Amino acid sequence: MDFEFSEEQLAFVEEVERFLDDHDDPDVFDVTRENMAQIVDTPKRRQFMAEVGKRGWLGITWPKEYGGTEGDGVYEYLLNESLARRGGPQIGKGVGIIGKTLIAHGSEKLKQEFLPKILRNEVEFAVGYSEPNAGSDAASMQLKAVRDGEGWMLNGQKTWTTSAHFAEWYWVGARTDPEAAKHFGITLFLVPLDHPGITIKPIWTMGDERTNEVYFDDVWVSDDYVVGELNRGFQYISEALDLERFTLFTFSQIDARLDLLLEYVKSATLDGEPIAEDPVVRRRIAHLATEAEAARLLGLTFVYRSSRGGAPPTAEASEYKLYATELSQRLADAAMDIAGPGSQLRVHTEDAPMKGRSESTYRYTVIDTIGGGASEIQKNIIARRKLGLPKNF
Ligand SMILES: Cc1cc2nc3c(=O)[nH]c(=O)nc-3n(C[C@H](O)[C@H](O)[C@H](O)COP(=O)(O)OP(=O)(O)OC[C@H]3O[C@@H](n4cnc5c(N)ncnc54)[C@H](O)[C@@H]3O)c2cc1C
Repeated sequence: MDFEFSEEQLAFVEEVERFLDDHDDPDVFDVTRENMAQIVDTPKRRQFMAEVGKRGWLGITWPKEYGGTEGDGVYEYLLNESLARRGGPQIGKGVGIIGKTLIAHGSEKLKQEFLPKILRNEVEFAVGYSEPNAGSDAASMQLKAVRDGEGWMLNGQKTWTTSAHFAEWYWVGARTDPEAAKHFGITLFLVPLDHPGITIKPIWTMGDERTNEVYFDDVWVSDDYVVGELNRGFQYISEALDLERFTLFTFSQIDARLDLLLEYVKSATLDGEPIAEDPVVRRRIAHLATEAEAARLLGLTFVYRSSRGGAPPTAEASEYKLYATELSQRLADAAMDIAGPGSQLRVHTEDAPMKGRSESTYRYTVIDTIGGGASEIQKNIIARRKLGLPKNF
C-alpha cells in the first residue's frame, strides 16, 4: 500500500486551497460548528457550493454520462478534507447518498430530474431512516406506506432528521410490505418537504446544532418518486451507509483540533511553569498525536480499498468511523483537562484557552459517536465482517 499522494493529487490540493483562499468568507467557513459545518444550510453556503459545482468538483466520481468526470475517489477525499479543515460545507448527501444511489438504481425520470440539480447544487436533501423505535436497528422502521391509486399514502414519524428544516426533498424509507421479513419490506421514496401533510419540529442537540422530528399525515407520493425497486430500499440504504460512515466524518478537523491544543500547550503556563515541560501533559499529547496518525491511516486504507472497485470496504469504513470519532472525544477530554477550569468558557470567548473551542468540541464530539451508526454498531460490524463472529442482531 502506498499512502503517498501523487504529484497530480498534490497539485489538485494546491488548486483547491487557492480556490478556498479566493472564496474565504466567515459566513461560509466556521470551524466552531465542528463537524456540523459540513451541511449546506444558508444561501451563502449554497452559493459557495454552486461555485464548487461549476469547477466540476461535485461530480468527481460520477460517470461521464451523468455529468461527472469519472475521477478517482481520492480527489473527492482530498477536496472534502480541505473543506473540513476550514469549517466549510462539504460534498455529502446529495452527491454521495442520493446521487450515487439514483445512478445505480433510479429510474430515468428521477435521474433526469435530480442529477443535474445535484451537480449544480440547486437542491438539498434530508435523509430519513431513523424513527423513535428504529435507530441502530433501522430495518425496524415502521413509517407506513399503503398503496393508493398510482402511488402510496405515507403515515407515521421519523426522528433525528438533520437538514429537514431547510432541505427541499426528503429521501425517506417506509414500510411497503408489513408481511415481509423486516429487511425486505422497505421502499425508498423521494418526498417534497413542503408537502402539506408533513410537519417538522426541531430537536436541539448538545452541540448547539439542530436536527428534527418529522411527522407524516396522509402524505401521498406518486409511483414516479419510488426509488429503484419496491421493497429493496433497505439494500440501497445499506450500500449508501458505508459511504456515509466514511465521508461524513473527515479527519482534518481532528488534526486541526490537535494543532490547536499543541499551540496552547506550547504557549501556556501553570503556576508560572510552562505546561510544555509537564511530563504528564507531554506524554498525553504525544499519545494523542500517535492516535491521530493511526486515524489518518485508517482513513487512507478506506480510500485505497474503495479505489480498487468491487464491494464497498464495509469493515474499513466502520474501523475508521469508530476510531476517529472516539479519538475526537479523547482529544476533547484532554483539552478540558490540560486547560483546566478556563476550558469551560464558552466558544468565541476571546481570552478563553483555545478561544473556547475546548468546551464546544467537548459537547459536540459526543454526537459524532452516535450519528451514522453508534460506536457499538461499528464494533458489531467489525466483529461480524472482519472477524467472522456470529451475528447478534
Ligand atoms: C445529531 C444527530 C443527527 C442525526 N441525523 C440523522 C439523519 O439525518 N437521518 C437519520 O435517519 N438518522 C439520523 N440520526 C440518527 C442516528 O443514526 C441514530 O441516533 C443512531 O443510529 C442511534 O439510534 P438511536 O438514537 O435510536 O439509539 P438506539 O439504537 O436506541 O441505541 C441506544 C444505545 O444502545 C446501543 N445499541 C443498540 N443496538 C445495539 C446492539 N445490537 N449491540 C450493542 N449495542 C447496541 C447503541 O449503540 C446506543 O449506545 C442522527 C443522530 C444524531 C444524534
